[in-house]
Amino acid sequence: MFEIDIPKLRQCCSTPGPPGYEHRIRKLLTQWLEPHVDELYTDNIGNLITHIRGRDSSRRVALAAHMDEIGFIVHHIDEEGFVRFYPLGGFDPKTLTAQRVIIHGREDILGVMGTKPIHLMREEERKQLPKIEDYFIDTGRKRDDLLQYIAVGDPITRERDLVEMGDCINAKSLDNRLSVYILTEVLTRLAETEPPYDVYGIFTVQEELGLRGAYTAAHSINPDFVLNLDVTIAFDVPGAQPHEYGTRLGHGVAIKIMDATVVSDPRMVRFLRQTAEKHQIPHQDELLPKGGTDTGPLQRAGRSGAISGALSIPTRHLHQVIETAHKKDILHTMQLLYHAALEIHNHPWADDPF
Ligand SMILES: [Zn+2]
Repeated sequence: MFEIDIPKLRQCCSTPGPPGYEHRIRKLLTQWLEPHVDELYTDNIGNLITHIRGRDSSRRVALAAHMDEIGFIVHHIDEEGFVRFYPLGGFDPKTLTAQRVIIHGREDILGVMGTKPIHLMREEERKQLPKIEDYFIDTGRKRDDLLQYIAVGDPITRERDLVEMGDCINAKSLDNRLSVYILTEVLTRLAETEPPYDVYGIFTVQEELGLRGAYTAAHSINPDFVLNLDVTIAFDVPGAQPHEYGTRLGHGVAIKIMDATVVSDPRMVRFLRQTAEKHQIPHQDELLPKGGTDTGPLQRAGRSGAISGALSIPTRHLHQVIETAHKKDILHTMQLLYHAALEIHNHPWADDPF
C-alpha cells in the first residue's frame, strides 16, 4: 500500500532546518502538501499546520512531527577565518570528530570540524573525551573571503548524504526527517479520503531545544486526540543486554508507552495495539526513560488536554550523522498511522477505563 520514495526521503533529510531556522524545510513541505490538503498555514512561531476536513468537524485529531534537526550557530569568526559555534540541540561531542558541516549564510559554505591532532596531545589530553568547545570549523577560507558569505548568528547543519545499506536507510537527521517524510506521505493519502474527524498535520519547530513549537501548536489547535511521530533509540547492537535495547530494528513500529515528557494515555496505547493487530502490522513497545518528545506538550497544552500517544521509528546511532532505520519499520509506521487516523472514531473512548 505504501512505498518508500528514496529520492523524496533524501531531499527531506538534506534540506536544512536547525532549531529556529526551519524556513527551508518548511518551504519544501509546503510545496509537497499544499496541493493535497484543505488548508495550510504557518503560525507565528513557525509551525507548519495542515488541515484535512473530516466527516465530523466537532473533533480534532493532531498528527505531529518536529521538522527541526540538531545543528549549531556561529558565535565567533577569528582573524584567521576559523569559526567557533554553539550547539542548537543535544550533541555528543565525540561524534563531531572529522565531520563536514554546512554554514548557512548568504550562501551555503562547507567546512570541517577541526580539533587538536592526536600527535600534539599530551598524555592526559589523549585520555579525555573531547568537549564541544574544543572544536572549530575550518572552511578553507580566509576571514575576509568568508565574511562575504557568513556572519555571527548563521545556523550550521551537518553534511552527509542518504545511502541504502541492505534493508536499511542511513543518513543524517533521520531524527526527525524520517517522521516528517512519513507524515507527509500519510497526510497525502488521508487527503484522498474523508477521515472521520478533522485531521491536523503539524510540523513543529524547535523541538530539539525543549519542545518549544509543540506547546504553541497544541494551544491553538486544541486537539482531542494526538499521535506524535519521532524516532527512538534502537540499541540492539553488540555488547548490549536485551533489557537495554529500547527497541530493535526490523521488529515493527514502536508504540510509545512513556518517555521523559509523557505517559501515553493507556486508552491510546490499547487502540494502537488493537489497530496494529487488526491490520497485521508488526509492532513493539517503547519506553524511553531519558529524552522527551513533543508528545508531552501536545498532550497537555490544549484546553482540556488530549488523548495522546505516539509512534516511534526504531533508529540506531541516534544524534549522529549515521542514523540507521529499517525500511520495514518505516512502512509499518506509515500503515499504522494511516489506519489509526481512519479508525479512531470506532474505539469506545468514553467506555474504555483508564
Ligand atoms: Zn526527534
